[in-house]
Amino acid sequence: MSESTLRIGLVLPDVMGTYGDGGNAVVLRQRARMRGYDAEIVDISLSDPVPDSLDIYTLGGAEDSAQRLATRHLQRYPGLQQAAGRGAPALAICAAIQVLGHWYETSSGERVDGFGLIDVTTSPQDKRAIGEVATTPLIPGLSQPLTGFENHRGGTKLGGEATGLARVTRGVGNGVGDNLEGVVQGSVIGTYMHGPALARNPELADLLLARALGVDSLPPLDLPEVEQLRRERLRA
Ligand code: GLN
Repeated sequence: MSESTLRIGLVLPDVMGTYGDGGNAVVLRQRARMRGYDAEIVDISLSDPVPDSLDIYTLGGAEDSAQRLATRHLQRYPGLQQAAGRGAPALAICAAIQVLGHWYETSSGERVDGFGLIDVTTSPQDKRAIGEVATTPLIPGLSQPLTGFENHRGGTKLGGEATGLARVTRGVGNGVGDNLEGVVQGSVIGTYMHGPALARNPELADLLLARALGVDSLPPLDLPEVEQLRRERLRA
C-alpha cells in the first residue's frame, strides 16, 4: 500500500457495472475497515483521467456499446494498464476481461482492439450464457467453491500466458469448451461472475485485499450472513 489509506479504484462505474459489480469495491473497502485499515473508494468516471497510483482496481461488466466507450476511455488514459504493469491488483468482471485482452468481437461481429494486458481473445458464442455459475478454484490461496451469476455472449479463449481462475461445475464460464472460468495473469484476476463476485466469495475478496495491502494474510472475519448467502446461492 502506497500511503496509510488503501485506495480502491472503481473504474468507470457509469459505463461498466452491470448487476451491482460496483459492490466489489464496497466489499473490499468494508473488509479492509473491519480489519482496522483506512480505506476509500476512488470513483473514476468517463470525465476523469485514470490514475496509475491506486492500490487496487475493480472493473465491472457492460453491454456492448457501453463496453466500447470504456475501451476508448481506458485507451486514452492508460493509468490502469500502467498500474497493473507495476503489479497493482485488478479485478476484471465480464466485459472487463474482454477489454483487457488482445481483442474482442461484439455480438454484431465487430472486432475491437483491447489492451493485451492479459493473453485472451473473445468472440461471440452461438448462445448467450445466462444463469448461476459455480466453480472449483485452480489458484493457490483459494480453496472454497466460487459462485456467481453470469450473463454474456462472448466466449473467452486463453492464450499461453494466462491461466483459468477455476473449473466450472455449473454454468458456462469462459464458454469455449475448456470448462474453465475466469482468467489469471500477473496481478489481474478476471471472472464472468457477477453477484457482486466479492460479496459472494469472501476468500477471493481477501486474496485481492491482502495483495493490495502487501500482507501475507488477513485475520478471518466471522460474518454468518455471508456464509448464509453462499450456502443459499450454491444450492440455487
Ligand atoms: N457485452 C459482453 C458480452 O455479452 C459482456 C457482457 C457483460 O459484461 N455482462 O459478452
